[in-house]
Amino acid sequence: MTDTMLAFRFVEWGHPGEYREVPVPQPGPGQALVRVAGSGLCGTDIGLLRSGHRTWPDPPYTVGHETAGWIEKLGDGVSDWTVGDGVLVSALPWCGSCRKCQIELENECRSRPAAYGLGRDGGLAAYMVADTRDLVSLGSLDPRTAVPLADAGSTSYRAVRLALEPMRGGNIVVIGVGGLGEFAVQYLRALSDANVVALDVRQRALERAAELGAAHTFLAGVDSAVAVHAASPGGVDAVIDFVGVNNSLRLASEVIGSGGRIVQVGIGGGRLSVGWEVLPRSAQYVTTSGWRLKDMREAVALAQSGRITLTSEHIPFRDIHEGIDQLQRGAFRGRVVVDSLAH
Ligand SMILES: [Zn+2]
Ligand SMILES: [Zn+2]
Repeated sequence: MTDTMLAFRFVEWGHPGEYREVPVPQPGPGQALVRVAGSGLCGTDIGLLRSGHRTWPDPPYTVGHETAGWIEKLGDGVSDWTVGDGVLVSALPWCGSCRKCQIELENECRSRPAAYGLGRDGGLAAYMVADTRDLVSLGSLDPRTAVPLADAGSTSYRAVRLALEPMRGGNIVVIGVGGLGEFAVQYLRALSDANVVALDVRQRALERAAELGAAHTFLAGVDSAVAVHAASPGGVDAVIDFVGVNNSLRLASEVIGSGGRIVQVGIGGGRLSVGWEVLPRSAQYVTTSGWRLKDMREAVALAQSGRITLTSEHIPFRDIHEGIDQLQRGAFRGRVVVDSLAH
């Protein structure tokens, strides 16, 4: 192992990121050095590197918040992990002491430390350091194929759990069946007998959703609400909106049934009107972001048991700029994983 490595760094606001030679980090007490198998790119990275959305901490740091790999080295005081273990890095650290963390709602932590890849060094490098409490064991899963579970798979799992709360199934509408929505269709099939109705503007995404178990698929358009009602006898029990624009939220509010729940995951900037009899009686609207560690472990267990399949497109480490360009153009079908130089 050399002393330095190549990392893809966020260097200043308004700059698209650059490759820098940096020292290989060393794990401190309670930490592990992870040899990176791969790290995913997603819309959040476009926001950080291209749109200059200053919602994240100031640079510099290494990008990459969807990372899997193998434990290379352990810091002092770590006894419950072994060198060589395959792990996911949960990018959202938690304080451990606020009321939310104490009831295992780490994704709602009220004083969240900076996230890996979005405030402190992430996984677009050969190695990264993480606190061991942010690691989830992959067991028999290969870290190279498990990468999307670290963000897309876990975010989607949390949304599905929320959508299943009102009825444990019923008629569930999934708007947007790209990287996250594809996971949602599979989770709904694995965890419930829900009648899954999927919508997207891309025909090939709908074909994939049908393969994965959606009972009805529709191209989103002006008559979407009519189609959804026809495919949902007895009313819609939940809508998961992975898009989050005005049109998708309007559709959600037009189709949701009384006592149903709209779960918004997509950050498309849309608005939804709520109020007495604006939504049907007792209907709920919730947003969700991130995941609990428990969600991540359960998603890993489903993948281990073969009840969901993992798909991703891989690009070489030297092509990150092109990868982000392609992501911005919508050129990838599923999740995009940057293979690390280290695996
Ligand atoms: Zn992401
Ligand atoms: Zn907390």
